[in-house]
Amino acid sequence: MKREKSHKLFEEAKRYIPGGVNSPVRAFKSVGGEPFFVDRGLGSRIYDVDGNEYIDYVCSWGPLILGHAHPEVIGFIKEVAEKGTSFGIPNVLEVELAKAVVEAVPSIEKVRFVNSGTEATMSAIRLARGYTKRNKVVKFEGCYHGHVDCLLAKAGSGVLTLSIPGTPGVPEGFVSETLICEFNNKDDVKATFERYGDDIACVIIEPVMGNAGVILPDDDFLSFLREITDTYGSLLIFDEVITGFRVSYGGAQARFGVMPDLTCLGKIIGGGFPVGAYGGKAEIMNYVAPDGPVYQAGTLSGNPVAMAAGVKTLEILKRDNPYEALEKKTKRLGDEAKRIFEEKGIAVTVNSIASMTSIFFNSGEPVRNYKDATKSDTEFYSKFFWKILDKGVYFAPSQFEAAFVSVAHSEEDIDRTLQAIRDFVKSI
Ligand SMILES: *Cc1c(COP(=O)(O)O)cnc(C)c1O
Repeated sequence: MKREKSHKLFEEAKRYIPGGVNSPVRAFKSVGGEPFFVDRGLGSRIYDVDGNEYIDYVCSWGPLILGHAHPEVIGFIKEVAEKGTSFGIPNVLEVELAKAVVEAVPSIEKVRFVNSGTEATMSAIRLARGYTKRNKVVKFEGCYHGHVDCLLAKAGSGVLTLSIPGTPGVPEGFVSETLICEFNNKDDVKATFERYGDDIACVIIEPVMGNAGVILPDDDFLSFLREITDTYGSLLIFDEVITGFRVSYGGAQARFGVMPDLTCLGKIIGGGFPVGAYGGKAEIMNYVAPDGPVYQAGTLSGNPVAMAAGVKTLEILKRDNPYEALEKKTKRLGDEAKRIFEEKGIAVTVNSIASMTSIFFNSGEPVRNYKDATKSDTEFYSKFFWKILDKGVYFAPSQFEAAFVSVAHSEEDIDRTLQAIRDFVKSI
């Protein structure tokens, strides 16, 4: 495949934008090479500026569960945009989207819209700290909650080691209240609470990890977190920026039957626009300004065009209830891919739930936490990535990301993808 125009554009982009991109993973560094520039998308397909066509399993990193340029979503956005794009005054679409979120997500009684997932987690943590009047935050190794200073912390060695910043620019003091535990490790969480419990404002977790590849919670892990946070008077925050409206219409909490105190949303609720949200029990949400003392604001929050995309996306998901069909398609993709690799003697672990799946190129051992995930052969993943990209299949440019299947992906798209994987396997 030729990508000359993309190459030229990337050279130009690098002159004006750090690394040529506005979010690091887009630079394709972890698979080595250069990104392509997209021209347009329709349904399950994207087209680059050189005219190449790809079946897209990134789907804008999760938001596009309906696929690209869904006609009903685009139609509604146009209608709303023609009436003006931003006012900073209450509009009816904010209320409609809030109502849809409250009706869908079982633990949310009130919700505040922001402009990104990062803003949602940052605000939820501020609220948890303000509400509990405590400072410490427990997060899990490998969970990504956006680029919030105090959440960009890497675990030090040992269960109870205080964290160190994961990036320059975050003073040690900013992460000194962040405690890191291992996903699916109850003893680790127990020990952390025994030592710091009375100072812990909240536990924040992706109920299904989606940012180290897909990693599922053990059967009783989330309910265990519910119990221990209740015991110590800490809040439980589910970061459902990926899982919200994906793992089920009501998110991971509806699927697993565990109710957090606060939930962070993003991605799907913006229908392809910059939207995030945090919500939860009314008693806690009333602690946010202007009703309460915890300040949080946004010039473009609740923007009518973004709200319109969200409202229409949720309306379609509720009406068409595509979840079972999505899960079936995704499972077929994951299971068949695993079979193709194993027939060739290549061990892999496939983790799937709902419309998200990951193929870990490891020794076939279960992947239950970040450490397990990092045992994968990232060089092999890079080979896989480029080979199937040239066959017109776009998986995420990193081993540690999920593949997202949308409503627009047909059984034929899945077949073509599997054929590309078969061709790759034959070539090695
Ligand atoms: C993407 C993501 C975020 C950050 O959202 P942005 O809109 O990129 O700021 C937070 N949490 C999770 C679980 C995510 O996947």
